[in-house]
Amino acid sequence: MNHKVVVLASHNPGKLREFAQLFQGAPFELVLWPGRDEIIAETGDTYVENARIKAHYVARQTGHWALADDSGIEVDYLGGLPGVNSAHFVSQNPWENTREILLRLMDAPPSARTARMRAVLCLASPDGAEWLAEGVVEGWILPWPRGTHGFGVDPIFSVNGRESLAEWPEAEKNAVSHRARAVQALWNIINEQGLF
Ligand code: IMP
Repeated sequence: MNHKVVVLASHNPGKLREFAQLFQGAPFELVLWPGRDEIIAETGDTYVENARIKAHYVARQTGHWALADDSGIEVDYLGGLPGVNSAHFVSQNPWENTREILLRLMDAPPSARTARMRAVLCLASPDGAEWLAEGVVEGWILPWPRGTHGFGVDPIFSVNGRESLAEWPEAEKNAVSHRARAVQALWNIINEQGLF
């Protein structure tokens, strides 16, 4: 087994692109999960549980190390919703979920529109070992969608209260994002423990 290959347990093209960029120069090759049509049910109640379920499944199935993430947006005005349910808040359709957040915040003044995006990563080996890392980016929900880059809630999430992440070039988002911070934390663990 070549343990310098890490299989990414995701089908989301936006995430695949981001991870490829974030792991540039890593001591392993990040490859796509061959089970392209297979969906792993995210049945956990937490980001950690979902990331663990996906990483261990793909590691066992492929015989390679696997990397999985789970992420979401936590809106303070909504008591932290949609959180772990971000991908299927009121719909499976990302734009319907984004619109729902905007509608529920219609009466919220700017100071009450705080939110954060959180990402949890799980790296798993085929023999069942695991390493977890988390990243958070704080920001605000804008009053209306802006921009055409990115995916999910990028058009309504802003880290400076002005432009949305969907208006920023990919590289700028990747410099501050929850996923970038989680990758950095995992990278530190990989280096400290000499995993590859
Ligand atoms: P996951 O695929 O279960 O991790 O769900 C992620 C969901 O959280 C997405 O469907 C988006 O609504 C939201 N989300 C997580 N990360 C991002 C991001 O970087 N940009 C935009 N939306 C995100």
